Amino acid sequence: MSDCIFCKIAGGDIPSATLYEDDDFRVILDLGPATKGHALILPKHHYANLYEIPEEMAAKAMVLAKRMAAAMTEALGCDGFNIVQNNGEVAGQTGFHFHMHLIPRYNGDQAGITWKPGELKDEVRDEIVAKVTAALK
Ligand code: ZN
Repeated sequence: MSDCIFCKIAGGDIPSATLYEDDDFRVILDLGPATKGHALILPKHHYANLYEIPEEMAAKAMVLAKRMAAAMTEALGCDGFNIVQNNGEVAGQTGFHFHMHLIPRYNGDQAGITWKPGELKDEVRDEIVAKVTAALK
């Protein structure tokens, strides 16, 4: 997509602090980091979100996330690691080109990646299980 900034960054048309690059992906430092080392995995091909990315590419992205997490943990000395992947504006997606956030976590950091747990009611549980398992068939 010619007007997609992530396409331009992934393709190298816009410079970025690149941690890794191969034929399919570029990994860059996020310009608004949640913590020190916050990075993004960007596929070089345009997919808007998880719904659009082919399964093979999604699998490659997760393998790359694992490799990056190991290297970044060793290099940065973080104490934990979040992988965050948002789909849709309501879910916090702001750039509509599939990306995965790699967020190193440090004891005492103030990154607020959390939610308030609700309650799973029996009737809601049964409805969800029935509908989703049917959708998978
Ligand atoms: Zn794009």
